[in-house]
Amino acid sequence: MGETESAAPEAARQELSADVVCVGFGPAMGGFLTTLARGVVNPDGSTAVESRVAPGLPLQVICYERADDVGFGVSGVVTRARALRESFPELEAAQIPLAAPIAEERVLYLLDPIGASRRSATLRGADRLLRAARFALPVADEALELPWTPEFLHKRGGMVLSLGQLNQWVAGQVLQTGAVQIWPGTPVSQALVEGHAVTGVRLVDQGVNRDGTPAEGYLPGMDVKAALTVVGDGPVGPVGRQLDEVFGMPEGHHVREWAVGCKMVVDLAPDRPAKPGTVLHTFGFPEPEIFGFLYVHPGNVASVGIFVPSWFDCPARTSYRYLQHYVQHPALQRYLAGATLRSWGAKSIQESGRRGEPRLAGDGWARIGEGSGSTNVLTGSGVDEAWATGVQLAQGVLELCRSGKPFSRENLEAAYVARRRGSWVEAEGRVAERARDGFGQGVATGLLGMALSGLTGGKVSLGPEPVPPHERIQGVEGWYEGRIPAAEVAALRAECARSGRPLHDALMDRAGWPPIACDGKLLVSHQDALLLGGKVQAPPGYADHVVFLRPELCKACGARTCVAICSGQAITDVPDGVPAFDREKCVHCGACLWNCSQPLEDGSEQGNVAFLAGAGGLHSAEN
Ligand SMILES: Cc1cc2nc3c(=O)[nH]c(=O)nc-3n(C[C@H](O)[C@H](O)[C@H](O)COP(=O)(O)OP(=O)(O)OC[C@H]3O[C@@H](n4cnc5c(N)ncnc54)[C@H](O)[C@@H]3O)c2cc1C
Ligand code: SF4
Ligand code: SF4
Repeated sequence: MGETESAAPEAARQELSADVVCVGFGPAMGGFLTTLARGVVNPDGSTAVESRVAPGLPLQVICYERADDVGFGVSGVVTRARALRESFPELEAAQIPLAAPIAEERVLYLLDPIGASRRSATLRGADRLLRAARFALPVADEALELPWTPEFLHKRGGMVLSLGQLNQWVAGQVLQTGAVQIWPGTPVSQALVEGHAVTGVRLVDQGVNRDGTPAEGYLPGMDVKAALTVVGDGPVGPVGRQLDEVFGMPEGHHVREWAVGCKMVVDLAPDRPAKPGTVLHTFGFPEPEIFGFLYVHPGNVASVGIFVPSWFDCPARTSYRYLQHYVQHPALQRYLAGATLRSWGAKSIQESGRRGEPRLAGDGWARIGEGSGSTNVLTGSGVDEAWATGVQLAQGVLELCRSGKPFSRENLEAAYVARRRGSWVEAEGRVAERARDGFGQGVATGLLGMALSGLTGGKVSLGPEPVPPHERIQGVEGWYEGRIPAAEVAALRAECARSGRPLHDALMDRAGWPPIACDGKLLVSHQDALLLGGKVQAPPGYADHVVFLRPELCKACGARTCVAICSGQAITDVPDGVPAFDREKCVHCGACLWNCSQPLEDGSEQGNVAFLAGAGGLHSAEN
């Protein structure tokens, strides 16, 4: 059975017809539906664009969201909100819960107060100099505040937001129009492909065993036929990846750069109030490769998080533990001392940007948002870009409807892709295209490359084309060579196999990371964080959405990166066997998809993990 095939007998499947069917409800779909809804109905409620499947009525638009609620979203967010403001010219931050205008933006280089991070000799030397010169430089609390923030990083005039709250607010605005249906809790399993065209989507089967075979109460997922299928399923969406497989990527494009973002939303201590709209970007700790952020919302609430990128070669890469070390850094403790965890979440971010852009449109389909390569890795911005691509598609769709033209590839390219090519999303995406290549050669080159790209408008960059993530992941023994003797690594492996303790934790302990002293406030166990994050029980009767494709690859794999990276501890090690997957703990971050150390076959860009459409995850309303 292929990755997107279903075990359901065709005869039992129900069918529904719409004019436009949409996959995923994130900022991209928010922009699309906001614009479309305003165009299909006149202000007096009469039909402006007539449906073909329900003559006399307005265009019939249905959107399916996988998560249990439209407020699913794990993100920062600090954004210039240019596209959002164009859609809502009267928008004030106060209208959206947890939103605040940006008050100040700072960038900190964090020294390592513990001495456990893996720093190059140059970086260690630089750290010594900074400590020695701390009286003459803006160095305090083991951090250097950069005297100047490059222009390309600024979000002046923008806002800090909670993505969950933004999504909920937008959904409210869209639903008020009555022109669109949004169905949360409804994962789409695949696009319906007929020849060169997409003719709609198939929802996931229910009442099936873990392997997807029919069980008691079997209910085959409905087929929803539509003249246009809009795919905005984000960075790891299975429908977008299916289209990449079927229609191929444009020449020279690939999705090789990723990060998993892991964040907390916290209540700051009453005696440490922070100004809403404060924005802090950090780099240097807990590892030089790990970037971090802290954004202050109204009500003394803050978002704080880190990104573990695909160019971090270490196989012991648990983002949750690294986040716990991060929030204890003295420069973060300025804000976070006495803080209490409200919620937590994790999600992948697609960092290939413009170079990861897939085919944007074809007969009967179009792609928008992060899965369409809109995220800008130079400016660290994805929400506004995703929103803008949704707006551009909706404008194109309305234009085609009004002129009675079909949603063919040529028409969508003229009406949507051309708009996108002429917009700031494209211009800025081009500038950012090679900005991160330097990270392939180390952190210092990466930072310099970013600065050069940003300052020269993308004309200068450093470093070669990125390689697929699995080519970067090092084996445990190789990575710790010179730090932990091979015999000791072997002993730790054996001890972990006996006790069930995760090897990555044991290795981090041995590398000098202190144990996390959980205080039940800011520092809680990973499993407690899952509950605080609003873990939604995966409903019974769905197939497993994480599948290890070739058991023999897992059995021979010593790196076990999928176990280390798993944001929900849903993947656990089975020594010398195939890791176990527990759907109840999965938060759908998608990190296992790009964190496998073994390519599926020689020359393949895909690892040994299939990440399919599934239910459950986090009810992440404020992340
Ligand atoms: C920790 C973190 C911090 C970030 N910080 C910032 C920041 O400060 N500023 C900024 O601008 N951007 C930031 N980003 C990036 C930003 O969040 C994304 O670029 C943006 O959310 C992309 O929007 P989207 O609509 O394309 O995709 P998404 O927001 O990913 O939405 C896609 C939706 O599709 C749904 N979906 C997926 N598969 C299916 C399916 N099969 N069926 C139905 N639904 C499906 C998902 O559940 C999801 O709700 C951050 C990201 C992370 C992870
Ligand atoms: S999924 Fe990949 S990283 Fe995980 S055990 Fe299998 S081969 Fe190794
Ligand atoms: S199993 Fe779930 S929680 Fe774990 S890495 Fe994969 S998607 Fe994330």
